[in-house]
Amino acid sequence: MARYDGLMGMIEYEEFLGNLAIVREGIGRACELAGRSVDSVMLLPVTKTHTSEVVEYVSRAGLRVVGENRVQEAVEKKVGVKGDLRWELIGHLQTNKVGLALRTFDRIQTVDSPGLLMKLNSAAEAEGKVMPILLQVNAGEDLAKYGVSCEGADKLLELALSLRTIRVEGLMTIPALSEDVGVAVRAFNRLREKRDELEDKFGVKLPELSMGMSGDYMEAIKAGSTIVRIGSGLFGRRS
Ligand SMILES: *Cc1c(COP(=O)(O)O)cnc(C)c1O
Repeated sequence: MARYDGLMGMIEYEEFLGNLAIVREGIGRACELAGRSVDSVMLLPVTKTHTSEVVEYVSRAGLRVVGENRVQEAVEKKVGVKGDLRWELIGHLQTNKVGLALRTFDRIQTVDSPGLLMKLNSAAEAEGKVMPILLQVNAGEDLAKYGVSCEGADKLLELALSLRTIRVEGLMTIPALSEDVGVAVRAFNRLREKRDELEDKFGVKLPELSMGMSGDYMEAIKAGSTIVRIGSGLFGRRS
């Protein structure tokens, strides 16, 4: 049985459209409150654990991108999906899956070590492509999470900038799970400050800040997020 049979969580297209309208309204409201343009935030629907049918909902609704957290799951789903979608990896990438990830995804948001960077760079070189990535930063200093520490991010970026077939587009973070939204807000603000610091130090643009999920995307937008990763808010709770 597939890990993502997701049948329990399968929702109807109409219900998804209703959820989508609610999330878009939330994004719009948060942007308005923050004095930002609504075009400055990308909605990334997270289809992990759901079937390719749900991925097709995304496409049918006119969205052009999905996020998945496992390489193999995305590979299997992609086969069954028509339409022109961009795929983004938002889960931890093991070094032995780098080649497959590179061919499957249009952007990898979870690069957090020199080893992974080097492997991605050689795989991209071999494929003759330039790979867009985000550096995953453990901005909440959460022991249970992947991501380079804020202190380690400078060295990792320096290495990334020296690699010809890697293009760093920004930073990503996953805050610690907490009842207190303040924990996430502190991580979001820390990530933005770190981004600003890195842009100054290296004289580069790091426009993307991937932060915020179903429970905290409005706070994330207030803190400067440009990519909100929404799963349950669109597709219902995962079984
Ligand atoms: C699952 C997942 C999400 C979506 O979470 P929801 O709370 O369901 O919106 C976002 N980001 C990452 C990295 C995830 O793994």
